[in-house]
Amino acid sequence: MMLRLAAFLVNLLAAASAPAQAPASPPKALKSGAPSLVVVISVDQFSADLFDEYRPHFTGGLARLANGTAFRNGYQAHAGTETCPGHSTILTGSHPTHTGIIANTWVDQSIARSDKTVYCSEDERVPGSSTTDYTVSAMHLRVRTLGDLLKQQSPQSLNVAVAGKDRAAVMMGGHTVDQRWYWSGKGFATDNKSAPVPATIARANASLASVIATARPPLESPPLCQGKATPYVLSPELTVGAGRFQRAGGDVRAFRASPEYDGAVLAVAAGLVQEMKLGADAAPDVLSIGLSATDYVGHGRGPGGEEMCLQLMSLDRDLAGFFQVLDAQGVDYAVVLTADHGGMDIPERLRAKGVSSAVRADPALGTADVGKMLAAKLGLTGPVLLGDLSSDIWIDRALKPEDRTRVEKEAVAYFKTHPQVEAVFTKRQIARMPLATSSPDKWSITDRVRASYDAERTGDIYVVLKKYVSPIVKPGIGYAATHGSVWDYDRRLPILFWRKGMRPNDRQDHISTVNILPTVASQLGLALPAKVDGRCLEGIEGVTCQVR
Ligand SMILES: [Zn+2]
Repeated sequence: MMLRLAAFLVNLLAAASAPAQAPASPPKALKSGAPSLVVVISVDQFSADLFDEYRPHFTGGLARLANGTAFRNGYQAHAGTETCPGHSTILTGSHPTHTGIIANTWVDQSIARSDKTVYCSEDERVPGSSTTDYTVSAMHLRVRTLGDLLKQQSPQSLNVAVAGKDRAAVMMGGHTVDQRWYWSGKGFATDNKSAPVPATIARANASLASVIATARPPLESPPLCQGKATPYVLSPELTVGAGRFQRAGGDVRAFRASPEYDGAVLAVAAGLVQEMKLGADAAPDVLSIGLSATDYVGHGRGPGGEEMCLQLMSLDRDLAGFFQVLDAQGVDYAVVLTADHGGMDIPERLRAKGVSSAVRADPALGTADVGKMLAAKLGLTGPVLLGDLSSDIWIDRALKPEDRTRVEKEAVAYFKTHPQVEAVFTKRQIARMPLATSSPDKWSITDRVRASYDAERTGDIYVVLKKYVSPIVKPGIGYAATHGSVWDYDRRLPILFWRKGMRPNDRQDHISTVNILPTVASQLGLALPAKVDGRCLEGIEGVTCQVR
């Protein structure tokens, strides 16, 4: 399989090359000695636990990055550890309380359409759209990204984003992109309709159609991964733990939840580097890459088995191939690799490993069911409560104000007495708290919830489940394990800085993803906006923090 993936990459690259447009005036660096291309990679659901576990076994691209300045204690500091909020912090220097991206979806009862759930990277004003059939947009992101700042201060710079998920490409690319491509379920698509379509995209989509149409034999499993192959039967239809990504021809979902998916995104990214000549002149460019397969594998199979082992070993090799392409271009590039959140394994395997408190959530915590129970108890009609199990929960605005007050009181009391619930906050309580500025490992649960607060979007009630309680009540195909909690298995992740010639520097200090933007801005000589949450990280070779 690896050979086939590699061949796919090579074919795509051999074909991709187009003349660059001649700039009107010679492009300039913002700072002498700065890299001409910054590549920012997010590996979706790549927890620090996974990084620590597999680091000794990496020999390819991840080994290269781990030999730069490697922080093994990075954090998505906030409570709502989902994909969209996580990606919104990586290149903005801001926590979700300032990016506005509190979750993948939130309930907005003021919008015109009947579906009141808003997806983080959609424009819900488009007629006929819904949470699942949406028009991709960056309009909900309240701050600017690295690429936005770069294009403002260095108009000849290019801002390019490629990802498996639209929300990753949107939140890392931001408001002004030259190219943005993400997997649509059928091929790579864009929301940036005014830009010319690169030849790379047409070639990638044609190649991928033929790759997906062809059945795939199981991967070869090295001894390391074989050692993790213990099956867990979660339902008559679903056994996880020992799997090697065998796939029927045409099974797009299985393609997405396999190492092939990251290979495809990296091939497109490499093709765009060549075709757009990223990093070829002095004006620095930014390429953000969202690698989503680790997340789909984590959700579908849990991060603790043979499947994740094969995924990470394959990612390590595909990243090596990607960096070789950049090396061959002769580009002086810098890389930052991190994650949007971590993840919790399936409770069944955690218990087998001795985590006796790992369980699936009580179905009686489901928001719709609690709403029904409160409606009966208080003599109310309607859903009463809106939202998913735990985290943000909204009270139905159709209720009279005095009924909303009764619902809030009863709901808080119900959740607080439930043995699987750690803490419950009302929106008013969260709003009153100050935003923490201490080291993210020192943050209280309150601090974490506060960093996810948005005055318009946050729910009326916020429910925090106890550690090792998975909100997936009943595992299904593609959805056995998840993330999204306030706990460190979901918050802690690697943050790796690499540039050619850097000496290895293992850092044990605890930092946050909001530190990435100020650090890269210093590296490039880019002025920061008046207010960001993060600060430039000291002690990274080649980076001199700006005095602000
Ligand atoms: Zn994610």
